[in-house]
Amino acid sequence: MKIAFIGLGNMGGPMAANLAAAGHDVAGFDLAAPMPEGVSKAETATAAAEAADVVVTMLPNGQILRAVAGDVIPAMRAGAVLCDCSTVDVDSARAVAAQAASAGMGALDAPVSGGVGGAAGGTLTFMVGGGADAFDTVKPLFDIMGQKAVHCGDAGAGQAAKICNNMILGVTMVATCEAFALADKLGLDRGKMFDVVSTSSGYSWTMNAYCPAPGVGPQSPADNGYTPGFAAELMLKDLRLSQQAAESADADTPMGELARALYEQFVEAEDGLGKDFSAMLPRFEGRGRR
Ligand code: NAD
Repeated sequence: MKIAFIGLGNMGGPMAANLAAAGHDVAGFDLAAPMPEGVSKAETATAAAEAADVVVTMLPNGQILRAVAGDVIPAMRAGAVLCDCSTVDVDSARAVAAQAASAGMGALDAPVSGGVGGAAGGTLTFMVGGGADAFDTVKPLFDIMGQKAVHCGDAGAGQAAKICNNMILGVTMVATCEAFALADKLGLDRGKMFDVVSTSSGYSWTMNAYCPAPGVGPQSPADNGYTPGFAAELMLKDLRLSQQAAESADADTPMGELARALYEQFVEAEDGLGKDFSAMLPRFEGRGRR
């Protein structure tokens, strides 16, 4: 396939490289990042998109996505598909899909789970919103860049799945960290805490697979000085998106809102910026009730 790949940063770079390595003809554009192996450089996003069967975007936020989509959609050929893999707000995903549809193009919102390691290894999970035809067109590319692609529903459904998942992730990470800090103060050994909780009703991905306590459970960023991993500021971005969506859908999400406020304080007023999101544990360790 002829593919345009716009946004070749930490995630987009290795994803584009995997598509090129699988034999696809990939033209790339980024304002700053270097071209990955096997990807030919286009001078503009529009130039990359003109001849493409599929235009993939992997950009920082919804505002930038809307701007890039506004440039490339008029240049795309009829019947081509715009597939956005960024994590953005549901409203932007739906607005871009509507613009693409009115120009005769397919559009998918296809955010990913799996991080930089999953992008490099081709093991991402894609959660996808949009039409069935567009999903079928892009599915072979999802199979190269990832290990699983779930068609979640119409436009916006992929972003909805992503922010709901990550709201659970943020809330459970906070709960796991505050429980470890309480256990410490009660004199409970962290290894024993892990043994019990990881096989009891408090188990979760944050406890069992990504334990925030160093030296406990499987290898995780906690064992590497809380180097991300998944940075606290990216978790804050996703929690903000969840609360923005909850606001616009009139959904009551008190735990998500509390997690958003905690990560905001950690990243913007404390020393959380650049640390893994599991560094909430040392944050709680140093605190008392007041
Ligand atoms: P990044 O900042 O490394 O990459 C974004 C790239 O977009 C940069 O290279 C930047 O130069 C480029 N860019 C910005 N504006 C542009 C424009 N107008 N035209 C062309 N290129 C432009 O970010 P990332 O870590 O690759 O994340 C990309 C997206 O994936 C984000 O939406 C993020 O939330 C999501 N995501 C990231 C992770 C992760 O672990 N890093 C995991 C899942 C999802």
